[in-house]
Amino acid sequence: MKLPPFQYAAPATLRDAVALLAAHGGDAKAIAGGQSLVPMLAFRVASPALLVDLRKIPDLDRITISADGVRLGAMVRWRDIEDDARLDTAHPLLKAAVAHVAHYQVRNRGTIGGSIAHADPAAELPGIAVTCEAEMAVTGASGARVIRAADFFLGPLMTALAADEIITEIRLPAWPPRRRWGFQEFARRRGDFAMAGAALYYDEDASGKATNAHVGVIGVGDVPQRLAEVEAVLNGRVVDAAIIAQAEGAAAGCVNPADDIHASKAYRRALTGTMVERALKSASA
Ligand SMILES: Cc1cc2nc3c(=O)[nH]c(=O)nc-3n(C[C@H](O)[C@H](O)[C@H](O)COP(=O)(O)OP(=O)(O)OC[C@H]3O[C@@H](n4cnc5c(N)ncnc54)[C@H](O)[C@@H]3O)c2cc1C
Repeated sequence: MKLPPFQYAAPATLRDAVALLAAHGGDAKAIAGGQSLVPMLAFRVASPALLVDLRKIPDLDRITISADGVRLGAMVRWRDIEDDARLDTAHPLLKAAVAHVAHYQVRNRGTIGGSIAHADPAAELPGIAVTCEAEMAVTGASGARVIRAADFFLGPLMTALAADEIITEIRLPAWPPRRRWGFQEFARRRGDFAMAGAALYYDEDASGKATNAHVGVIGVGDVPQRLAEVEAVLNGRVVDAAIIAQAEGAAAGCVNPADDIHASKAYRRALTGTMVERALKSASA
């Protein structure tokens, strides 16, 4: 289907981009890689009067790794993450999740800022952001602010971003070298969005018991979510076969997915348990 008509601007500064968005109220949209927005235009899910292209704004495509953690500029593409060998140790969970995003062509253009702003509940990066307690740095007409991932995703394709705000950076806390982690998802075809997925990590104390467990799931609710019930099963325990089985049951029991054309609620619940089980098996191995 042809796209609806729109004006186009490619400002050279963040300030100009924000000013353009602010001047058009809710009738302008930022465009980054276009991999989600262009299909939405084609389907008439969105028809903004103006597209504000972010590609000429400097410094939004940097990956910075320091003792504080990983900072990903909003225009960093999936491919940049795949190609950055530093992330193998600086954030292996992120790297594992990105391997499941779409296909080569989409990963070559799609950006992480676009994925976070698009807020698909089955998308990998929003799940990583929530699981890892990421923060989003955003700038709008009234200045800059930082939004915690837990407060950012409000529903399917809905976020806490104001119409004039642009995400500039996604900040992931530092990743200790001995942390245990796992990422698993089930999709109907490789590169499709997850029917259910689990991202998790935990640290171990001197006696080998799990501490600081973080367990997140995607594709089974309106937003990516942490599963406190599963984290409680893990914390203070050695993650062995019995605890993994208990965590699997807790995961299946505490999510409340909807029935849809792809799967029933019962199937997605069971799948969530299986994804958590498999992620814990790989984390503990
Ligand atoms: C065939 C196909 C398969 C896919 N499979 C997957 C998958 O398995 N997993 C997955 O996660 N994604 C998948 N995607 C989506 C893909 O990852 C997109 O690249 C991503 O969701 C959006 O990034 P983008 O840069 O293309 O954003 P765009 O399409 O340019 O923008 C998306 C939305 O974000 C807003 N936006 C963009 N950048 C910013 C910013 N910096 N600040 C504020 N708002 C901004 C736009 O206004 C728009 O509303 C798939 C896409 C396709 C076409």
